[in-house]
Amino acid sequence: STALVWFRRDLRVHDHPPLRAALDAFERVIPVFVLDDRLLDGRFESANRASFLFDCLKDLRTALQERGGNLVVVRGKPEAELPKLAREHGATATYFASDVSPFAMARDKRVEEALKEAGVEPRRTPGNFIADIGKLKPYVVFTPFWRAHSQLPRRELHGAPRKVRTPSDLKVGEIPTGTARGDQHGGESAGRKQMLAFDHTTYDDVRNRLDRETSRLSAYLHFGCVSARELEGRVGGAFARQLVWRDFYAHVLLHHPRNTHHAHQEQMDAIEWDGDDEHFEAWKEGRTGYPVVDAGMRQLAQTGWMHNRARLITACFLVKDLHIDWRRGEQHFMRYLLDGDVAQNNGNWQWISSVGVDPAPLTRRLYNPALQQQRHDPDGVYVQTWAPDSQTLTPIVEHAVERQRTLAAYSAARGT
Ligand code: FAD
Repeated sequence: STALVWFRRDLRVHDHPPLRAALDAFERVIPVFVLDDRLLDGRFESANRASFLFDCLKDLRTALQERGGNLVVVRGKPEAELPKLAREHGATATYFASDVSPFAMARDKRVEEALKEAGVEPRRTPGNFIADIGKLKPYVVFTPFWRAHSQLPRRELHGAPRKVRTPSDLKVGEIPTGTARGDQHGGESAGRKQMLAFDHTTYDDVRNRLDRETSRLSAYLHFGCVSARELEGRVGGAFARQLVWRDFYAHVLLHHPRNTHHAHQEQMDAIEWDGDDEHFEAWKEGRTGYPVVDAGMRQLAQTGWMHNRARLITACFLVKDLHIDWRRGEQHFMRYLLDGDVAQNNGNWQWISSVGVDPAPLTRRLYNPALQQQRHDPDGVYVQTWAPDSQTLTPIVEHAVERQRTLAAYSAARGT
């Protein structure tokens, strides 16, 4: 008996529920990844993430080969490629881990229909999140979500399988090599190394320090090189709580798919964005004359990652000092971030733009960039590293003036 295991963004062999379930129930499995042009060239295409993905696939293939198996990589649409592969090898089931974005949900529905038509049973499992977030009633505020989430059962953890039996006559396909590169190498080997080396005990003291790095696990979590479930089991305290934000934003998108294009607070779609394109270019290139903003934007362009505090400051600046639509910032981040993730990026952009879930008074999320810099980069190390020349630039806007304009524009949209 034979089953397919369809890998998507769970590119690992440790704690992999679909692979485990398929190995338990079938004599042979065919691990497969479908390179779908709609993902590679779609709305959020990114050369950085494509390169990272290819690294992940190579690493996964090696891990499967070490266990006697292999990874099939095909280019095309999964709704066509998976039934075809199943037919070629007489596979009768396909295992995969469920996902939350509207794109993934629509695709999975099409794939399930195509598989059933071909006489292949689709079998969904959890796997991408700490817990089974689909089991919770909808929440839009983090703290109650976090409490309910802490009560959800955690699945049993499994190590990597010792043996993976694949058919011997597989055409495995080539894995492309990427052209761009962020400052991290994709793959479970690199991700596990990073996870095992990370010391979470000082996290709460340093996480808002721009001159310190946080865990740098986000891209590994996005591509599933590291299991969020396993990671949670290894850590505690402030870090474990922060990790639950990832499940929270996935949960929000699951229940509010329209958020990918609209403000969660519907009336906030009426905000008038009258910022100009030259300012947008200056922001993207890190030439605003606000050193901490410029440092963040250049870190992003050069490495494919930005410190969370800098993401907050730069995003807030775009929306509330330059009056540019948060969706344009969201899109720019997606182009560069190795961890670029529809649910996480959208949720965080909406949060800092004061248009999303988990609301707070506007003034609490209306940062003064100079004060942020003093507080979070007190010795100037971050700015010196990424944008040492920014102090010499003339600021493109005056924060005190733009702050007033933002207060007025948000009031107008709310009708208050
Ligand atoms: P750590 O601080 O070490 O945290 C560990 C893990 O917890 C992260 O890897 C991440 O999975 C999770 N986490 C931490 N903070 C958040 C958060 N605020 N929201 C959701 N999950 C969190 N994160 C992404 O993974 N993808 C994105 O596309 C993304 N876009 C963002 C856009 C903006 C405007 C902002 C303000 C934040 C964004 N974040 C995004 C969240 C956060 O900045 C990154 O997850 C974090 O900086 C990644 O670095 P790290 O792994 O060292 O984080």
